[in-house]
Amino acid sequence: MMKFTVLTIFPEMFNSFWSYGIIKKAIDESLIFASAINIRDFTKDKHKTTDDRPFGGGCGMVMKPEPLADAIRMAKENNPDSRTVLLSPQGRIFNQKLAVELAESNGLNFVCGRYEGIDERICSDFVDDEISLGDYVLMGGELGAMVIMEAVTRLIPGVLGSPDSASQDSFSGELLDYCHFTRPREFEGSKVPEALLSGNHKDIDNWRLEASLIRTFLKRPDLIENKILTKQENEILKKWCRDIENIIQAQSLRGSGTLSGN
Ligand code: SAM
Repeated sequence: MMKFTVLTIFPEMFNSFWSYGIIKKAIDESLIFASAINIRDFTKDKHKTTDDRPFGGGCGMVMKPEPLADAIRMAKENNPDSRTVLLSPQGRIFNQKLAVELAESNGLNFVCGRYEGIDERICSDFVDDEISLGDYVLMGGELGAMVIMEAVTRLIPGVLGSPDSASQDSFSGELLDYCHFTRPREFEGSKVPEALLSGNHKDIDNWRLEASLIRTFLKRPDLIENKILTKQENEILKKWCRDIENIIQAQSLRGSGTLSGN
């Protein structure tokens, strides 16, 4: 079972996170186990101090190494095969591929920094991985830990209703997910595409592939820059180009799209 342990000075932040939706269901069904360790519980002074001034001066405070080291040791003791991940803007950028890699581990301990960050000796000696949520700076690692737990949990077998759900998602393959529609068939003048109402599975699959491909092309062309297209995908894009060409030609015949038409 995947065991998440969050090391934080704000464990209460996770109470509501673990109490809703699919994460709660996964916990209730023992598909995952999640707990928080309060780093403050490992301090030795009466004020429970977790930070201190930086050597060399400068602004901000730094998380002290001793309580963090003891908190990580406890997490490792509870789950010796676990992997310790530091949330850090300097880490590997989180994506679906990394979520798949993390989902294969036996347990994840998330170290959530605060202030200016944590003492470097923790990063070098106590952490297996540094992971970033992106090229921006947050106030703490807690939201990052939540994001990773969500992405990893939905990959754990049995968590999602249908085993196909995760494999059809954006970033599972090379294309973005297709568009989704539900009732009503017509909403404020906008209709659900006919192919989806046809009941013909081949037509539905073709329509979905076309939707995926065109969305990827329009929204994230970088994802298919190096993709070797299948014959069917090639045909879809060619047909799409022809359709656009026809629209441009029709516009030219109408006199629009020219300087005078503008
Ligand atoms: N001084 C650090 C730097 O510039 O690299 C930033 C420290 S940040 C204010 C405090 C903590 O928030 C970090 O230790 C880290 O745990 C978390 N954090 C901030 N930005 C993050 C990001 N993009 N991804 C993951 N964690 C982040």
